Amino acid sequence: MAVSDHVDLETFMAGVTKRNPGQTEFIQAVHEVAQDIFEFMEDKVHYHEAQILRRMAEPDRVISFRVCWEDDNHNVRVQRGWRVQNNNAIGPYKGGIRFHPSVTESVLKFLAFEQTFKNSLTGLPMGGGKGGANFNPRGKSDAEVMRFCQSFMSELYRHIGPNTDVPAGDIGVGGREIGYMFGQYKRLTNRWEGVLTGKGQEYGGSQMRPEATGYGAVYFLRNMLKHQGMDVEGHTAVISGSGNVATHAAEKITQLGGKVLTMSDSGGFIHDPDGMTQEKIDWIKHLKTVKRGRISEYADEFSGATYHEGKRPWDVACDLALPCATQNELNEDEAKSLVSNGVKGVSEGANMPTTLEGVKVFHDAKIMYGPGKAANAGGVAVSGLEMSQNSERISWNSERLGEMLTDLMEGIHEKCTEYGEQEGGYVDYVKGANIAGFKKVADAMMAFGVV
Ligand code: NDP
Repeated sequence: MAVSDHVDLETFMAGVTKRNPGQTEFIQAVHEVAQDIFEFMEDKVHYHEAQILRRMAEPDRVISFRVCWEDDNHNVRVQRGWRVQNNNAIGPYKGGIRFHPSVTESVLKFLAFEQTFKNSLTGLPMGGGKGGANFNPRGKSDAEVMRFCQSFMSELYRHIGPNTDVPAGDIGVGGREIGYMFGQYKRLTNRWEGVLTGKGQEYGGSQMRPEATGYGAVYFLRNMLKHQGMDVEGHTAVISGSGNVATHAAEKITQLGGKVLTMSDSGGFIHDPDGMTQEKIDWIKHLKTVKRGRISEYADEFSGATYHEGKRPWDVACDLALPCATQNELNEDEAKSLVSNGVKGVSEGANMPTTLEGVKVFHDAKIMYGPGKAANAGGVAVSGLEMSQNSERISWNSERLGEMLTDLMEGIHEKCTEYGEQEGGYVDYVKGANIAGFKKVADAMMAFGVV
Protein backbone atom coordinates (compact mmCIF):
# COMPACT_ATOMS: atom_id res chain seq x y z
CA MET A 1 0.00 0.00 0.00
CA ALA A 2 1.56 3.31 -1.02
CA VAL A 3 1.96 5.88 1.71
CA SER A 4 0.15 9.07 0.75
CA ASP A 5 0.85 12.50 2.19
CA HIS A 6 -1.15 13.18 5.30
CA VAL A 7 -3.44 16.06 4.52
CA ASP A 8 -4.57 18.41 7.27
CA LEU A 9 -8.20 19.15 8.14
CA GLU A 10 -8.34 22.29 6.04
CA THR A 11 -7.03 20.58 2.90
CA PHE A 12 -9.32 17.62 3.49
CA MET A 13 -12.37 19.90 3.78
CA ALA A 14 -11.30 21.91 0.71
CA GLY A 15 -11.37 18.61 -1.21
CA VAL A 16 -14.79 17.63 0.15
CA THR A 17 -16.15 21.08 -0.74
CA LYS A 18 -14.70 20.91 -4.26
CA ARG A 19 -16.02 17.42 -4.97
CA ASN A 20 -19.53 18.18 -3.67
CA PRO A 21 -20.39 21.59 -5.11
CA GLY A 22 -23.41 23.24 -3.51
CA GLN A 23 -24.04 20.33 -1.14
CA THR A 24 -23.97 22.50 1.97
CA GLU A 25 -25.70 20.10 4.39
CA PHE A 26 -23.38 17.25 3.40
CA ILE A 27 -20.28 19.44 3.71
CA GLN A 28 -21.49 20.69 7.13
CA ALA A 29 -21.98 17.13 8.41
CA VAL A 30 -18.57 15.94 7.17
CA HIS A 31 -16.89 19.02 8.66
CA GLU A 32 -18.42 18.40 12.08
CA VAL A 33 -17.14 14.82 12.12
CA ALA A 34 -13.77 15.53 10.50
CA GLN A 35 -12.78 18.05 13.20
CA ASP A 36 -12.85 15.32 15.86
CA ILE A 37 -11.55 12.52 13.69
CA PHE A 38 -8.48 14.44 12.55
CA GLU A 39 -7.56 15.02 16.19
CA PHE A 40 -8.16 11.33 16.97
CA MET A 41 -6.12 10.19 13.94
CA GLU A 42 -3.18 12.43 14.69
CA ASP A 43 -0.99 9.55 15.93
CA LYS A 44 -2.71 6.82 13.88
CA VAL A 45 -0.90 6.78 10.60
CA HIS A 46 -2.61 3.63 9.31
CA TYR A 47 -5.99 5.40 9.04
CA HIS A 48 -4.39 8.26 7.09
CA GLU A 49 -2.55 5.90 4.77
CA ALA A 50 -5.72 3.98 4.02
CA GLN A 51 -7.64 7.28 3.43
CA ILE A 52 -10.36 5.94 5.68
CA LEU A 53 -12.24 9.18 6.35
CA ARG A 54 -12.10 10.17 2.70
CA ARG A 55 -13.61 6.79 1.80
CA MET A 56 -16.35 7.16 4.43
CA ALA A 57 -17.23 10.58 3.05
CA GLU A 58 -17.69 9.14 -0.46
CA PRO A 59 -20.95 7.14 -0.53
CA ASP A 60 -20.66 3.58 -1.85
CA ARG A 61 -23.32 4.66 -4.32
CA VAL A 62 -26.05 7.24 -4.89
CA ILE A 63 -29.06 5.98 -6.82
CA SER A 64 -31.30 8.65 -8.31
CA PHE A 65 -34.52 7.90 -10.14
CA ARG A 66 -37.71 9.34 -11.63
CA VAL A 67 -40.97 8.75 -9.77
CA CYS A 68 -44.07 9.29 -11.91
CA TRP A 69 -47.57 9.17 -10.48
CA GLU A 70 -51.05 10.42 -11.27
CA ASP A 71 -52.92 12.75 -8.90
CA ASP A 72 -56.67 12.55 -8.24
CA ASN A 73 -57.37 14.96 -11.11
CA HIS A 74 -55.45 12.69 -13.51
CA ASN A 75 -52.53 15.08 -13.85
CA VAL A 76 -49.20 13.32 -14.39
CA ARG A 77 -46.74 14.33 -11.66
CA VAL A 78 -42.99 13.77 -11.71
CA GLN A 79 -40.79 13.63 -8.60
CA ARG A 80 -37.19 12.65 -7.99
CA GLY A 81 -36.32 9.75 -5.70
CA TRP A 82 -32.96 8.73 -4.23
CA ARG A 83 -31.28 6.05 -2.17
CA VAL A 84 -27.86 6.90 -0.78
CA GLN A 85 -25.95 3.76 0.25
CA ASN A 86 -23.15 5.27 2.24
CA ASN A 87 -21.27 2.45 3.91
CA ASN A 88 -21.93 -1.26 4.55
CA ALA A 89 -18.70 -2.20 6.33
CA ILE A 90 -20.42 -3.47 9.48
CA GLY A 91 -23.82 -4.59 8.16
CA PRO A 92 -26.50 -4.01 5.49
CA TYR A 93 -27.23 -0.36 4.68
CA LYS A 94 -29.88 0.93 7.08
CA GLY A 95 -31.61 4.30 7.32
CA GLY A 96 -34.95 5.98 6.79
CA ILE A 97 -36.86 7.31 3.81
CA ARG A 98 -37.89 10.97 3.86
CA PHE A 99 -40.72 12.52 1.82
CA HIS A 100 -40.52 16.30 1.99
CA PRO A 101 -40.22 19.09 -0.60
CA SER A 102 -36.86 20.10 0.93
CA VAL A 103 -35.26 16.73 0.12
CA THR A 104 -32.18 17.00 -2.10
CA GLU A 105 -29.21 14.78 -2.80
CA SER A 106 -27.16 16.87 -0.34
CA VAL A 107 -29.66 16.37 2.49
CA LEU A 108 -29.77 12.60 1.91
CA LYS A 109 -25.98 12.35 1.65
CA PHE A 110 -25.60 14.16 4.97
CA LEU A 111 -28.19 11.91 6.60
CA ALA A 112 -26.61 8.71 5.21
CA PHE A 113 -23.16 9.84 6.40
CA GLU A 114 -24.48 10.58 9.91
CA GLN A 115 -26.39 7.32 9.92
CA THR A 116 -23.16 5.37 9.42
CA PHE A 117 -21.77 6.69 12.72
CA LYS A 118 -25.08 6.40 14.54
CA ASN A 119 -25.64 2.79 13.53
CA SER A 120 -22.11 1.91 14.56
CA LEU A 121 -22.72 3.46 18.00
CA THR A 122 -25.72 1.20 18.64
CA GLY A 123 -23.37 -1.80 18.61
CA LEU A 124 -25.71 -3.60 16.19
CA PRO A 125 -24.56 -4.85 12.76
CA MET A 126 -25.96 -2.09 10.54
CA GLY A 127 -24.33 0.04 7.86
CA GLY A 128 -25.49 3.55 6.90
CA GLY A 129 -27.94 4.64 4.21
CA LYS A 130 -30.79 7.08 3.63
CA GLY A 131 -33.36 7.74 0.95
CA GLY A 132 -36.34 9.79 0.00
CA ALA A 133 -38.05 12.00 -2.52
CA ASN A 134 -38.96 15.65 -2.99
CA PHE A 135 -42.62 14.69 -2.63
CA ASN A 136 -44.86 16.68 -0.30
CA PRO A 137 -47.42 14.38 1.38
CA ARG A 138 -49.20 17.38 2.91
CA GLY A 139 -52.68 17.89 1.44
CA LYS A 140 -52.53 14.68 -0.63
CA SER A 141 -55.33 12.13 -0.45
CA ASP A 142 -54.64 8.59 0.81
CA ALA A 143 -55.01 7.33 -2.76
CA GLU A 144 -52.41 9.82 -4.01
CA VAL A 145 -49.96 8.86 -1.26
CA MET A 146 -50.53 5.18 -2.11
CA ARG A 147 -49.86 5.69 -5.81
CA PHE A 148 -46.73 7.69 -5.04
CA CYS A 149 -45.41 5.06 -2.62
CA GLN A 150 -46.07 2.28 -5.12
CA SER A 151 -44.30 4.14 -7.90
CA PHE A 152 -41.35 4.95 -5.60
CA MET A 153 -41.00 1.29 -4.60
CA SER A 154 -41.29 0.12 -8.22
CA GLU A 155 -37.76 1.40 -8.72
CA LEU A 156 -36.35 1.13 -5.20
CA TYR A 157 -37.13 -2.59 -4.80
CA ARG A 158 -34.27 -3.68 -7.07
CA HIS A 159 -31.70 -1.90 -4.88
CA ILE A 160 -32.76 -3.16 -1.43
CA GLY A 161 -33.18 -6.46 0.43
CA PRO A 162 -32.99 -7.85 3.97
CA ASN A 163 -29.24 -8.49 3.63
CA THR A 164 -28.54 -5.55 1.33
CA ASP A 165 -30.34 -2.41 2.45
CA VAL A 166 -33.26 -2.09 4.88
CA PRO A 167 -35.01 1.31 4.78
CA ALA A 168 -37.39 2.67 7.46
CA GLY A 169 -39.52 5.81 8.01
CA ASP A 170 -38.40 9.39 8.55
CA ILE A 171 -40.04 12.80 8.00
CA GLY A 172 -43.23 12.31 5.99
CA VAL A 173 -42.94 8.52 6.08
CA GLY A 174 -44.88 6.84 8.89
CA GLY A 175 -46.88 3.65 9.28
CA ARG A 176 -49.20 4.40 6.35
CA GLU A 177 -46.39 4.96 3.84
CA ILE A 178 -44.36 1.97 5.09
CA GLY A 179 -47.47 -0.18 4.59
CA TYR A 180 -47.95 0.96 0.99
CA MET A 181 -44.27 0.47 0.18
CA PHE A 182 -44.05 -2.95 1.84
CA GLY A 183 -47.17 -4.08 -0.04
CA GLN A 184 -45.63 -3.03 -3.34
CA TYR A 185 -42.27 -4.71 -2.57
CA LYS A 186 -44.05 -7.96 -1.73
CA ARG A 187 -46.12 -7.76 -4.88
CA LEU A 188 -43.09 -7.15 -7.12
CA THR A 189 -40.82 -9.79 -5.60
CA ASN A 190 -43.33 -12.37 -4.36
CA ARG A 191 -41.31 -12.53 -1.16
CA TRP A 192 -42.28 -11.73 2.41
CA GLU A 193 -39.08 -10.60 4.07
CA GLY A 194 -37.95 -7.97 6.53
CA VAL A 195 -36.97 -5.45 3.88
CA LEU A 196 -38.42 -2.42 5.69
CA THR A 197 -38.65 -1.59 9.39
CA GLY A 198 -41.32 0.46 11.12
CA LYS A 199 -43.92 -2.00 9.78
CA GLY A 200 -47.37 -2.44 11.32
CA GLN A 201 -47.70 -4.94 14.16
CA GLU A 202 -49.89 -7.18 12.00
CA TYR A 203 -47.19 -7.76 9.39
CA GLY A 204 -43.87 -8.08 11.19
CA GLY A 205 -43.45 -4.71 12.88
CA SER A 206 -41.76 -4.51 16.25
CA GLN A 207 -43.35 -3.37 19.48
CA MET A 208 -41.74 -0.12 20.69
CA ARG A 209 -40.53 0.95 17.23
CA PRO A 210 -42.88 3.97 17.00
CA GLU A 211 -41.86 5.13 20.49
CA ALA A 212 -38.15 4.27 20.22
CA THR A 213 -36.61 7.47 18.83
CA GLY A 214 -38.44 9.92 21.10
CA TYR A 215 -38.17 7.72 24.20
CA GLY A 216 -34.52 7.03 23.40
CA ALA A 217 -33.72 10.76 23.13
CA VAL A 218 -35.18 11.24 26.62
CA TYR A 219 -33.27 8.23 27.99
CA PHE A 220 -30.09 9.72 26.56
CA LEU A 221 -30.92 13.03 28.23
CA ARG A 222 -31.61 11.20 31.50
CA ASN A 223 -28.22 9.49 31.24
CA MET A 224 -26.48 12.83 30.67
CA LEU A 225 -28.29 14.37 33.64
CA LYS A 226 -27.52 11.35 35.85
CA HIS A 227 -23.83 11.65 34.96
CA GLN A 228 -23.95 15.13 36.55
CA GLY A 229 -26.13 14.05 39.50
CA MET A 230 -29.45 15.36 38.12
CA ASP A 231 -32.77 13.97 36.88
CA VAL A 232 -35.63 14.81 34.47
CA GLU A 233 -38.17 15.10 37.27
CA GLY A 234 -39.29 18.63 38.10
CA HIS A 235 -37.65 20.16 35.03
CA THR A 236 -39.33 22.10 32.24
CA ALA A 237 -38.76 21.08 28.61
CA VAL A 238 -39.10 22.86 25.28
CA ILE A 239 -39.67 20.53 22.32
CA SER A 240 -39.86 21.38 18.61
CA GLY A 241 -41.80 19.33 16.07
CA SER A 242 -45.06 17.48 16.58
CA GLY A 243 -44.40 14.31 14.62
CA ASN A 244 -43.37 10.84 15.65
CA VAL A 245 -40.17 11.80 17.48
CA ALA A 246 -41.50 14.95 19.17
CA THR A 247 -44.73 13.43 20.50
CA HIS A 248 -42.97 10.39 21.95
CA ALA A 249 -40.25 12.55 23.50
CA ALA A 250 -43.00 14.66 25.10
CA GLU A 251 -44.71 11.51 26.36
CA LYS A 252 -41.56 10.17 28.05
CA ILE A 253 -40.60 13.55 29.58
CA THR A 254 -44.11 13.75 31.05
CA GLN A 255 -43.96 10.15 32.35
CA LEU A 256 -40.67 10.92 34.09
CA GLY A 257 -42.14 13.94 35.89
CA GLY A 258 -40.91 16.71 33.59
CA LYS A 259 -43.14 19.48 32.21
CA VAL A 260 -43.36 19.98 28.43
CA LEU A 261 -44.08 23.59 27.49
CA THR A 262 -43.97 23.69 23.67
CA MET A 263 -44.45 21.76 20.42
CA SER A 264 -44.21 23.07 16.86
CA ASP A 265 -44.58 22.40 13.16
CA SER A 266 -43.33 24.22 10.10
CA GLY A 267 -46.04 26.88 10.64
CA GLY A 268 -45.07 27.95 14.16
CA PHE A 269 -45.11 26.79 17.79
CA ILE A 270 -47.59 26.49 20.65
CA HIS A 271 -46.70 27.43 24.22
CA ASP A 272 -48.64 25.80 27.03
CA PRO A 273 -47.43 27.20 30.38
CA ASP A 274 -49.54 24.62 32.27
CA GLY A 275 -47.51 21.83 30.66
CA MET A 276 -48.74 18.88 28.64
CA THR A 277 -50.61 15.90 29.97
CA GLN A 278 -50.84 12.48 28.32
CA GLU A 279 -54.34 13.49 27.17
CA LYS A 280 -53.01 16.59 25.41
CA ILE A 281 -50.18 14.60 23.80
CA ASP A 282 -52.66 11.97 22.56
CA TRP A 283 -54.73 14.80 21.10
CA ILE A 284 -51.66 16.03 19.16
CA LYS A 285 -50.89 12.50 17.91
CA HIS A 286 -54.44 12.20 16.62
CA LEU A 287 -54.30 15.70 15.09
CA LYS A 288 -51.07 14.92 13.23
CA THR A 289 -51.52 11.30 12.17
CA VAL A 290 -55.29 10.97 11.66
CA LYS A 291 -56.70 14.46 11.06
CA ARG A 292 -53.42 15.62 9.47
CA GLY A 293 -54.05 19.08 10.94
CA ARG A 294 -51.79 21.94 12.07
CA ILE A 295 -50.34 22.53 15.54
CA SER A 296 -52.01 25.97 15.67
CA GLU A 297 -55.29 24.13 16.42
CA TYR A 298 -53.90 23.22 19.86
CA ALA A 299 -54.30 26.82 21.05
CA ASP A 300 -57.99 26.76 20.07
CA GLU A 301 -58.52 23.48 21.91
CA PHE A 302 -56.67 24.09 25.20
CA SER A 303 -57.17 27.31 27.14
CA GLY A 304 -54.04 29.04 28.39
CA ALA A 305 -52.01 27.91 25.38
CA THR A 306 -50.82 30.42 22.77
CA TYR A 307 -49.77 30.01 19.13
CA HIS A 308 -46.76 31.85 17.71
CA GLU A 309 -46.94 31.90 13.94
CA GLY A 310 -43.70 31.63 11.96
CA LYS A 311 -41.63 31.33 15.15
CA ARG A 312 -39.51 28.63 16.76
CA PRO A 313 -39.74 27.83 20.47
CA TRP A 314 -36.15 28.47 21.61
CA ASP A 315 -36.83 31.79 23.36
CA VAL A 316 -39.12 30.10 25.89
CA ALA A 317 -37.25 29.68 29.19
CA CYS A 318 -36.64 26.01 30.06
CA ASP A 319 -34.31 23.55 31.77
CA LEU A 320 -34.22 21.04 28.92
CA ALA A 321 -34.44 21.47 25.14
CA LEU A 322 -35.26 18.74 22.63
CA PRO A 323 -35.15 19.76 18.96
CA CYS A 324 -37.22 17.05 17.25
CA ALA A 325 -38.30 18.56 13.90
CA THR A 326 -35.60 18.91 11.24
CA GLN A 327 -32.02 19.92 10.39
CA ASN A 328 -30.66 23.41 11.14
CA GLU A 329 -33.69 24.47 13.19
CA LEU A 330 -31.65 25.88 16.10
CA ASN A 331 -29.08 28.54 15.25
CA GLU A 332 -26.39 30.44 17.13
CA ASP A 333 -28.70 33.20 18.43
CA GLU A 334 -31.30 30.68 19.53
CA ALA A 335 -28.62 28.63 21.32
CA LYS A 336 -27.49 31.84 23.09
CA SER A 337 -31.07 32.53 24.11
CA LEU A 338 -31.44 29.02 25.57
CA VAL A 339 -28.17 29.41 27.49
CA SER A 340 -29.06 32.83 28.89
CA ASN A 341 -32.43 31.43 29.98
CA GLY A 342 -30.64 28.75 31.99
CA VAL A 343 -30.96 25.59 29.86
CA LYS A 344 -29.16 22.64 31.48
CA GLY A 345 -29.32 19.93 28.84
CA VAL A 346 -30.04 19.60 25.11
CA SER A 347 -30.90 16.26 23.50
CA GLU A 348 -31.43 16.07 19.74
CA GLY A 349 -34.34 13.91 18.60
CA ALA A 350 -33.91 15.26 15.06
CA ASN A 351 -30.84 14.86 12.85
CA MET A 352 -28.40 17.81 12.93
CA PRO A 353 -31.05 20.29 14.21
CA THR A 354 -28.38 22.57 15.72
CA THR A 355 -26.08 24.52 13.41
CA LEU A 356 -22.30 24.21 13.91
CA GLU A 357 -22.29 27.73 15.44
CA GLY A 358 -25.11 26.75 17.82
CA VAL A 359 -23.21 23.65 18.94
CA LYS A 360 -20.20 25.84 19.72
CA VAL A 361 -22.37 28.05 21.95
CA PHE A 362 -23.47 24.99 23.97
CA HIS A 363 -19.92 23.68 24.26
CA ASP A 364 -18.46 27.06 25.26
CA ALA A 365 -21.13 27.38 27.98
CA LYS A 366 -20.45 23.74 29.07
CA ILE A 367 -24.10 22.79 28.55
CA MET A 368 -24.81 19.05 28.32
CA TYR A 369 -25.38 18.56 24.61
CA GLY A 370 -26.37 15.20 23.10
CA PRO A 371 -26.01 15.24 19.28
CA GLY A 372 -28.62 13.44 17.18
CA LYS A 373 -26.28 10.69 16.08
CA ALA A 374 -26.13 9.51 19.71
CA ALA A 375 -29.35 10.84 21.24
CA ASN A 376 -31.77 9.69 18.54
CA ALA A 377 -30.13 6.31 17.85
CA GLY A 378 -32.88 4.50 19.77
CA GLY A 379 -35.06 4.44 16.65
CA VAL A 380 -32.59 2.66 14.43
CA ALA A 381 -31.58 0.41 17.32
CA VAL A 382 -35.13 -0.91 17.66
CA SER A 383 -35.25 -1.15 13.86
CA GLY A 384 -32.21 -3.42 14.18
CA LEU A 385 -34.17 -5.47 16.70
CA GLU A 386 -37.10 -5.60 14.25
CA MET A 387 -34.71 -7.11 11.68
CA SER A 388 -33.61 -9.74 14.22
CA GLN A 389 -37.21 -10.63 15.06
CA ASN A 390 -38.13 -10.89 11.36
CA SER A 391 -35.24 -13.20 10.57
CA GLU A 392 -36.02 -15.40 13.57
CA ARG A 393 -39.76 -15.19 12.77
CA ILE A 394 -40.68 -14.29 16.33
CA SER A 395 -41.97 -11.19 18.18
CA TRP A 396 -40.70 -9.94 21.49
CA ASN A 397 -43.04 -8.13 23.87
CA SER A 398 -42.86 -4.43 24.58
CA GLU A 399 -41.56 -4.95 28.10
CA ARG A 400 -38.51 -6.82 26.84
CA LEU A 401 -37.95 -4.33 24.02
CA GLY A 402 -38.36 -1.41 26.42
CA GLU A 403 -35.59 -2.83 28.59
CA MET A 404 -33.39 -3.45 25.55
CA LEU A 405 -33.90 0.17 24.44
CA THR A 406 -32.99 1.48 27.89
CA ASP A 407 -29.83 -0.66 27.91
CA LEU A 408 -28.89 0.35 24.35
CA MET A 409 -29.16 4.05 25.18
CA GLU A 410 -27.08 3.53 28.30
CA GLY A 411 -24.45 1.73 26.20
CA ILE A 412 -24.34 4.60 23.71
CA HIS A 413 -23.96 7.11 26.54
CA GLU A 414 -21.07 5.08 27.95
CA LYS A 415 -19.30 4.94 24.57
CA CYS A 416 -19.64 8.73 24.25
CA THR A 417 -18.16 9.35 27.70
CA GLU A 418 -15.31 6.93 26.97
CA TYR A 419 -14.01 9.16 24.17
CA GLY A 420 -15.59 12.49 25.13
CA GLU A 421 -14.96 13.03 28.85
CA GLN A 422 -12.69 15.98 29.53
CA GLU A 423 -10.79 17.29 32.52
CA GLY A 424 -13.22 18.64 35.08
CA GLY A 425 -15.86 16.06 34.13
CA TYR A 426 -17.51 17.91 31.20
CA VAL A 427 -18.40 15.45 28.43
CA ASP A 428 -18.04 16.49 24.79
CA TYR A 429 -20.70 14.10 23.46
CA VAL A 430 -20.11 15.14 19.86
CA LYS A 431 -16.49 14.12 20.03
CA GLY A 432 -17.32 10.94 21.97
CA ALA A 433 -19.99 9.88 19.45
CA ASN A 434 -17.85 10.74 16.43
CA ILE A 435 -14.81 8.82 17.61
CA ALA A 436 -16.64 5.77 18.96
CA GLY A 437 -18.80 5.58 15.81
CA PHE A 438 -15.81 6.06 13.51
CA LYS A 439 -13.50 3.53 15.15
CA LYS A 440 -15.66 0.45 14.62
CA VAL A 441 -16.42 1.25 10.96
CA ALA A 442 -12.82 2.27 10.27
CA ASP A 443 -11.40 -0.95 11.73
CA ALA A 444 -13.83 -3.05 9.70
CA MET A 445 -12.79 -1.18 6.54
CA MET A 446 -9.13 -1.71 7.37
CA ALA A 447 -9.78 -5.46 7.48
CA PHE A 448 -11.12 -5.42 3.90
CA GLY A 449 -8.07 -3.78 2.33
CA VAL A 450 -8.55 -1.28 -0.47
CA VAL A 451 -12.15 -1.69 -1.66
P1 NDP B 1 -42.50 13.49 11.21
O1 NDP B 1 -42.77 13.65 9.78
O2 NDP B 1 -43.32 12.55 12.01
O3 NDP B 1 -42.53 14.91 11.93
C1 NDP B 1 -41.71 15.96 11.52
C2 NDP B 1 -42.06 17.19 12.32
O4 NDP B 1 -41.11 18.21 12.03
C3 NDP B 1 -43.41 17.76 11.97
O5 NDP B 1 -43.96 18.40 13.11
C4 NDP B 1 -43.05 18.78 10.88
O6 NDP B 1 -43.99 19.83 10.73
C5 NDP B 1 -41.76 19.33 11.43
N1 NDP B 1 -40.94 19.87 10.34
C6 NDP B 1 -40.54 19.23 9.21
N2 NDP B 1 -39.82 20.06 8.43
C7 NDP B 1 -39.77 21.24 9.10
C8 NDP B 1 -39.19 22.49 8.82
N3 NDP B 1 -38.49 22.70 7.70
N4 NDP B 1 -39.33 23.49 9.75
C9 NDP B 1 -40.03 23.27 10.89
N5 NDP B 1 -40.62 22.11 11.19
C10 NDP B 1 -40.49 21.12 10.32
O7 NDP B 1 -40.93 13.09 11.32
P2 NDP B 1 -40.16 12.39 12.50
O8 NDP B 1 -40.72 12.83 13.80
O9 NDP B 1 -40.04 10.95 12.19
O10 NDP B 1 -38.69 13.00 12.31
C11 NDP B 1 -38.28 14.22 12.95
C12 NDP B 1 -36.77 14.29 12.97
O11 NDP B 1 -36.24 13.14 13.66
C13 NDP B 1 -36.07 14.25 11.60
O12 NDP B 1 -34.90 15.03 11.68
C14 NDP B 1 -35.70 12.79 11.44
O13 NDP B 1 -34.62 12.63 10.55
C15 NDP B 1 -35.29 12.47 12.86
N6 NDP B 1 -35.29 11.05 13.17
C16 NDP B 1 -36.44 10.30 13.06
C17 NDP B 1 -36.42 8.97 13.40
C18 NDP B 1 -37.66 8.15 13.42
O14 NDP B 1 -37.62 7.03 13.95
N7 NDP B 1 -38.79 8.63 12.92
C19 NDP B 1 -35.16 8.29 13.79
C20 NDP B 1 -34.05 9.18 13.98
C21 NDP B 1 -34.13 10.50 13.64
P3 NDP B 1 -45.00 19.85 9.45
O15 NDP B 1 -46.12 18.94 9.87
O16 NDP B 1 -45.39 21.27 9.35
O17 NDP B 1 -44.22 19.36 8.27
